[in-house]
Amino acid sequence: MKRLQGKRINAGIATGKILLMKSRPAVLKQEIPDPEQEVARLLDALTRAEEQLQTEMKTADKTAAGILETHMMLLTDTRFRDTVTGIIRREHVNAEYAADRAGETLAEEFEAMEDPYLRARSEDMRQTARRAADCLTGFTEVPRMAEPVILCAEEFTPALLSGMNREYVLGLAAKTGSPVSHTAILAAGYGLPYLAGIDPAEINDGVTAVLDADHGELILEPDPETEQKAKEKEKALREMTRIAPEKTRMKVYANIASEKDLETVLRHQADGIGLFRTEFLFMNRNEAPDEEEQFQVYRRVLEAMEGRETIIRTIDAGTDKPVPYLDMPREENPALGLRGARVSLAYPDLFRVQLRALLRAACYGNEGIMFPMITSGREIMRLREQVNIAAGELDARKEKYRIPRIGIMVETPAAALISEELAKQADFFSVGTNDLTQYTLALDRLARGMDDYYDPHHDAVLKLIRMTVEGGHKAGIPVGICGQLGADPELIPLFVGEGLDEVSVAPASVPAVRYRVAEAEKQHENRTDDKPGDGGIHAPADGQLVSMSGIPDPVFAGGVLGPCFGIIPDNGLVRAPASGTVSSVADTGHAVSLRTSDGKEILIHTGIDTVKMKGRGFSPKVKQGDTVRTGDTLLEFDPEAVREAGLNPMVITVLM
Ligand code: PEP
Ligand code: MG
Repeated sequence: MKRLQGKRINAGIATGKILLMKSRPAVLKQEIPDPEQEVARLLDALTRAEEQLQTEMKTADKTAAGILETHMMLLTDTRFRDTVTGIIRREHVNAEYAADRAGETLAEEFEAMEDPYLRARSEDMRQTARRAADCLTGFTEVPRMAEPVILCAEEFTPALLSGMNREYVLGLAAKTGSPVSHTAILAAGYGLPYLAGIDPAEINDGVTAVLDADHGELILEPDPETEQKAKEKEKALREMTRIAPEKTRMKVYANIASEKDLETVLRHQADGIGLFRTEFLFMNRNEAPDEEEQFQVYRRVLEAMEGRETIIRTIDAGTDKPVPYLDMPREENPALGLRGARVSLAYPDLFRVQLRALLRAACYGNEGIMFPMITSGREIMRLREQVNIAAGELDARKEKYRIPRIGIMVETPAAALISEELAKQADFFSVGTNDLTQYTLALDRLARGMDDYYDPHHDAVLKLIRMTVEGGHKAGIPVGICGQLGADPELIPLFVGEGLDEVSVAPASVPAVRYRVAEAEKQHENRTDDKPGDGGIHAPADGQLVSMSGIPDPVFAGGVLGPCFGIIPDNGLVRAPASGTVSSVADTGHAVSLRTSDGKEILIHTGIDTVKMKGRGFSPKVKQGDTVRTGDTLLEFDPEAVREAGLNPMVITVLM
């Protein structure tokens, strides 16, 4: 058994045989007597490369298709063609050498550009040229696989991933690779464990291996016990994609960039959408989508989510997400300039079109609006002002609308540090760990060659996340994470322990993350159960937390019975918030009180004024004198029936 240490690019675990991929042979320069014949060879190869791309696009998912479209654009652009033919004609050299060199020259030009979006295209340029050269040499990188394997190579390219039969790929191990590359995004989309920093020279083709990306290890020729354990974990992770979602306290939401992502979100039964990156609706076009177009998109997404929370982020343009028609100024450091909510405040007309669409769409589902890149309360105030103006505009048009919950992204150290104050102006927080890492570690997300400095587990980042959770919870608002760290297997137990309300992850990662959350919660519960009555009060229902002052009943809001909190329930399950003995159950079944072993009395009151329902729709599952443990079901009820009776189904917990 031999262990090779690597760096996790995408979490997961796989066991299987290694397939070492062929290295691409060096393309050598050759003098050729007839340049025109060589140009003809080139044109023929370019046609074949185009056909290859078209075939791959047919089976590609949305992310891969976007990348392949970029490659098609670069391949068919006259600039590439002219540069290659120019080299052939001037220097009388072979076409594959000319294609490689042209690719390198043009990639360097991209690299020198100020615009970070264009700078990032250098990788695409190299890969496009490489495809053209491979069509000339006949080299094929895509391996033929007869059984599922762990692929091992010097480097993986998006073209390689999108071109191979993914059913046969268990995982990826490579010498180089970056967590923010297109390949990494694709691997995450396909749910493939992926490790970088593994030298193929140290591996023999065909050996059995365990690729444990969670722990950053490739274990070659594992002993039977190691292999067995890995297989069990792998099986459990795989089965999570087939079974119904396990009910977890910490919800597992999905991030989407367009409606096309909904299919995966629904298939994996995500508990909600924690981030809809709407800026993608504004990109790659000549003018902004109008109110009606946006309204229809938001409405369709909300309706598809059938009442599950759907957090739509207002446009987060700038830096690597350019919106050319806005004509934004060129900046030396765009990540520190006009981006995120600052763009919305700089272009209020554009912003209000989006807000009107969002306010109208809010009538069709459980919508939350979220502002990106907040650094101060003043910004929230100014953004909320725009919401009110948009509402006024809809009033004037006599349009149907609703002002939904309004939250903010905490993705700057400033926002995390003053989260307690900001929580007073927001209905929820979502931590954007991608930007929070960038701004805390002074490390541009797009910087190349900085992998050594990119440490999202840095104590400073984790401390800011903790501060945000505490700041939000003190004010009684829910806190989630929608950055990459939300799916980090090492950190999920920490987030569970800190009481984070949700993590929002790539749609394909939902089942695996849900499995990890469920595991972490079981362990956490076991720990708290060792100390019954330890004073910890758990949420008695799934849903949206509301602080005491927000409960729409003067008796509870005034703390007459004791301090309390409310939960707008997602479903009709009411659980014990602590271990103890049932001291009473209301005849009408809507309220249960518990005495904990350390003598605290807790009342769980389901709905406001629901005594009027005389027990209709309530079924208690415990009786006086029963002993219950944290999480045991106390009663079930029908929140819809309560709403239909014109009452509020909020579940209220009172510490008497
Ligand atoms: C983040 O910054 O973590 C985030 C989720 O936003 P984006 O990646 O879209 O900037
Ligand atoms: Mg961000």
